[in-house]
Amino acid sequence: MNNLQEHKDFVRPGWHFLVDALDNFVKMKQRGYLPSKNGKFEKPEKDLFDFDVLQLKEKHSKIRIYSDCLPVEHNWEIFDQENYNDRLGPIQDEIYGFIQALEAISGFICEECGQRGEMCKIGNWMKTYCSKCRDEALSVRGLIENNS
Ligand SMILES: [Zn+2]
Repeated sequence: MNNLQEHKDFVRPGWHFLVDALDNFVKMKQRGYLPSKNGKFEKPEKDLFDFDVLQLKEKHSKIRIYSDCLPVEHNWEIFDQENYNDRLGPIQDEIYGFIQALEAISGFICEECGQRGEMCKIGNWMKTYCSKCRDEALSVRGLIENNS
């Protein structure tokens, strides 16, 4: 299980490729090799673990991803439980490290169009926009203020 794609639309299109990058990374780790009971490294036919996204959103002009890596019972028949638990910890750390990197990178990518962006103030909100999307957001806001 990996419900990352279901949460993609909680951020603007400019950041969707960041979600896809994490999705690919998680899928690679879900089918990664793990020592089996006979000591050989086996490639699992089913996912090594479930990846459960609790929340994916924009916060303070950066992408935020809250998630869990959960053990799955079907692996207990194939892998030593001790190996399995020992192996999941580092995988989880790698995924969390990848997420931290994405969160940092998102502060330099326009959340609307995916071009190089920077943090800017739109009314009371901090957003990451390129200059074109920033100007558009400011002008839309200007129109709204003129109508009220
Ligand atoms: Zn833009």
